[in-house]
Amino acid sequence: MLKENTCGTYYCIDKVVIKVTKKKKGYFVNEKDGDYGFSVVANSGKDAKRIAWETGDLDCDYTEVRVTWKRKASVEDLPIGIIENENLALRREVCDYLEYGECEECEEIATVQLYEKRILCKNCAETLNLMKGR
Ligand SMILES: [Zn+2]
Repeated sequence: MLKENTCGTYYCIDKVVIKVTKKKKGYFVNEKDGDYGFSVVANSGKDAKRIAWETGDLDCDYTEVRVTWKRKASVEDLPIGIIENENLALRREVCDYLEYGECEECEEIATVQLYEKRILCKNCAETLNLMKGR
C-alpha cells in the first residue's frame, strides 16, 4: 500500500505506517519578464508553480511562469504555501530583494537586501561596510 497526499508519502511496511515527509524547499515564482513574484514553500517546483498560479495574480500564461529553486533558502519550519511576510521571505533567502522594503537602519522605504542577516538599503550597507562579497 502506498498513498500520496500533499504533505508527504505514507508507506505501509509490515503494518507499521511510516510517514516520509518530503523536504520543504523555497521557490521564487514569477512571470517570465516581470520582477514581481511570489516566495513559495513547497515540496517541488511543480507544486510551487501551482500554488502561485492559484492566487490568480500572475498576469501571464501558465507556460510563462518561471520557478526558481532557491538553494540557500531555509524554510523547513514554515508551512507549505506562499510566504506572505516579505521580510520573512527575504530573511530566509527565498527572494533576493524587496523593491519597496523598509531599511532596518535608516527606516527609509527603498530597495532592500539581506546583508549579514540585516535588511538594509544599499546606502546603509555601504556605510556599515557590509558590502563585502556582493
Ligand atoms: Zn538604509
